[in-house]
Amino acid sequence: MGVKVAVNGYGTIGKRVADAILKQKDMTLVGVTKTKPNYEARLATERGINVYASSADSLKLFDGTGYRVAGTLDDLVSSADVVVDCTPGKVGATYKPLYEKYRVKAIFQGGEKHDTTGFSFNAYCNYKSALGRDLVRVVSCNTTGLCRVINALDKGFGVKKVRALLVRRGADPAENSKGPINSIVPDPVTIPSHHGPDVQKVLPNIDITTVALAVPTTLMHVHVLNMELNRDATEQEIIGTLSSYRRIRLFSSAEGISSTSEIIEFARDIGRHRYDLPELAIWKESIKSFGREIYLSQAVHQESIVIPENIDAIRAVARITEDPEESIRMTDESLGLGR
Ligand code: NAD
Repeated sequence: MGVKVAVNGYGTIGKRVADAILKQKDMTLVGVTKTKPNYEARLATERGINVYASSADSLKLFDGTGYRVAGTLDDLVSSADVVVDCTPGKVGATYKPLYEKYRVKAIFQGGEKHDTTGFSFNAYCNYKSALGRDLVRVVSCNTTGLCRVINALDKGFGVKKVRALLVRRGADPAENSKGPINSIVPDPVTIPSHHGPDVQKVLPNIDITTVALAVPTTLMHVHVLNMELNRDATEQEIIGTLSSYRRIRLFSSAEGISSTSEIIEFARDIGRHRYDLPELAIWKESIKSFGREIYLSQAVHQESIVIPENIDAIRAVARITEDPEESIRMTDESLGLGR
């Protein structure tokens, strides 16, 4: 049976977290919440997942529809050891008192403020500090991508300074009313964007400034990083270091993968469900060294990059294992990540 986990909010992130939990031997998915009866609720039920209404009002929406609901969010939370909150940004924080009332450990997503939990998580960077905590926030997709690469290069060579330009997708594929459609939007126009300070919540000693733009694409984000290392590193040494992490995957333009659409096509070709690529994608040819100063370009599949981190966060708060390496290995093997 293992640790009993509930997922509140079954949208882009919630359905992926739920699927990933179903693949773990040491945890059980007790159920997910839906606000209304729609195809996602039907698919979840068909897959054998218990669906709960997100409130008493939403329960009424299921009346007479033929959809099977097991109860409300209160019923679900009271039967769980850990809840993974995947409700929209800023909605999650409103559920904190409920999670505290039922004394369940709660994992929030990057749309919530750091202060909601007082602890922002990345498995490579601070797993041990999350052990047994009641409240943890898994940082956003962009911050997760930045943390992965900065942590790898910091452990390998020492990182003195990071300057990064983030080109962000305008919307997720299913979001039909978000944009921009025909514009490049400095988002925000002020500097820094929130991503740099967010990285520092996980890696407090990193000097980082980020600038962000939103563009009309739904597939992935792209980051261009300029970094100063503590010592000289050749391109081959950097490639060697990055290649040792299963959650980082190097792509080569020489092999015909020189855009986000080709990365996604690769994910489709290797049979990834929903074309997910939870690994951080880095273009090999973009890695350029000028001694201690280096450049690289990377792409982040926003819908899936945080999924392995959520699974590790569950193991950390539930103290399933105190060893980050063990948790990361179990997660990566179960999700088929890596080389
Ligand atoms: P989403 O809108 O796709 O899914 C949210 C789900 O919660 C939907 O099913 C919605 O019906 C449901 N919901 C809405 N109000 C609710 C309520 N009051 N109670 C319970 N459920 C409710 O959102 P998402 O993209 O999955 O984002 C969830 C969280 O993950 C946010 O904090 C977001 O910032 C973060 N995140 C999103 C992405 C991404 O690219 N989509 C990446 C990383 C992190």
